[in-house]
Amino acid sequence: MVGHLIEIEGKPIRYLAADEQLAGDRGNMQNFDVFEDRKLQQHPRIRRVLTALIRPLPLFYRVLHWSDGTDLHELDRKVLRGEFNDDDFAGALVAEPGTINCLNCATQLRILVVDGGQALFAKTLGERLRAHDLKQRCPSCRAHITLQIVEFFNEDRDL
Ligand SMILES: [Zn+2]
Repeated sequence: MVGHLIEIEGKPIRYLAADEQLAGDRGNMQNFDVFEDRKLQQHPRIRRVLTALIRPLPLFYRVLHWSDGTDLHELDRKVLRGEFNDDDFAGALVAEPGTINCLNCATQLRILVVDGGQALFAKTLGERLRAHDLKQRCPSCRAHITLQIVEFFNEDRDL
């Protein structure tokens, strides 16, 4: 299997450190795109994770996203040594890839949007959303977007 099976708030999740490859059966991974994954492997605000629902398969491709400057290379080291705790994830939100069209300029946007359906962080989701620096404007036309977006793929300077 891929990644490091860890528990955050008692919930199992597979954590991928920077540059770790997603080997294995990608057919059992929902929402996985090899090119997008490559862009996220070294992202300073993102770590990739795989989650399962009730059954062990399929695995769902998600990311943990921070906007508070948490040092994710340091977090990688802690995870690899098994020295992390829930506090290391205090600033994180679970997000998933998605596609929208801007209602103002119609530009198609690939986004990472908060996945509010996850059990992980569910109890503190409101606080986490308030503390997070969400993206609120279309990168093309700057119109307001009301979704809970943490990153745009189109903004190459960001991703
Ligand atoms: Zn727009």
